[in-house]
Amino acid sequence: MRRKLAAGNWKMNGSVSALDMIGALKLKHPECPCDVLLCPPAPLLTHALQNSASNPIFIGAQDCHAKESGAFTGDHSAAMIAEIGATHVIVGHSERREAYGETDVQVAAKAQAAQAAGLTAIVCIGESLEQREAGDALDVITSQLARSVPDGSSGKTLVIAYEPIWAIGTGKIPTMEQIAEVHGLMRIELRARFGADADNIRLLYGGSVKPGNAAKIFALDNVDGALVGGASLKAEDFSPIIEAL
Ligand code: 13P
Repeated sequence: MRRKLAAGNWKMNGSVSALDMIGALKLKHPECPCDVLLCPPAPLLTHALQNSASNPIFIGAQDCHAKESGAFTGDHSAAMIAEIGATHVIVGHSERREAYGETDVQVAAKAQAAQAAGLTAIVCIGESLEQREAGDALDVITSQLARSVPDGSSGKTLVIAYEPIWAIGTGKIPTMEQIAEVHGLMRIELRARFGADADNIRLLYGGSVKPGNAAKIFALDNVDGALVGGASLKAEDFSPIIEAL
């Protein structure tokens, strides 16, 4: 049985004081039946970990470098993230694929580095609007999944987030049929590659998840939670999404 996961990606938003929401989430969800994860910007990770120390909220980073160390100004390694006590790292978000030209091969290398450091890699994939309208969405998903996920991944070390690029920050979401179709496809592809353990890999939906649409998305087969952007910044928005799980 897969435990549901509500993950918040703060992107380049938030502040030390904004992390107070961790305390507010704890009060509202003292015995949460699902996992809750927050991924604030890297400079806030230590503060976030201090705030989450006495509650069950996991803290993760938004990116890592594939190498262990070296002359990579501005980057941080998976081992550094793990050393401070964070447990997850997002890799291959479409914003990084677009802004920094990250390829599937690079994303797989980052995911592998994360797993080697003891982190769970949240690998993001998703089609553009052009690809969706051209009828190529399922091919794009199949290819990104195959190339961005490293060999040796397991339910413990891998989470997949399906985030259609056109749904991110736009208020638009795919139809429930489209989400179910993609998640079903991902499960089949993962089973073909990883066998029975594929059923332990959590598949998140991301893109304009809000309190008002969370419950119907979470009711779909093979949707094991969400990767939430804007609505994870405030406890009053994130709490009802967690409750919907
Ligand atoms: P929004 O929830 O703001 O659409 O962002 C989704 C996202 O990109 C999470 O990684």
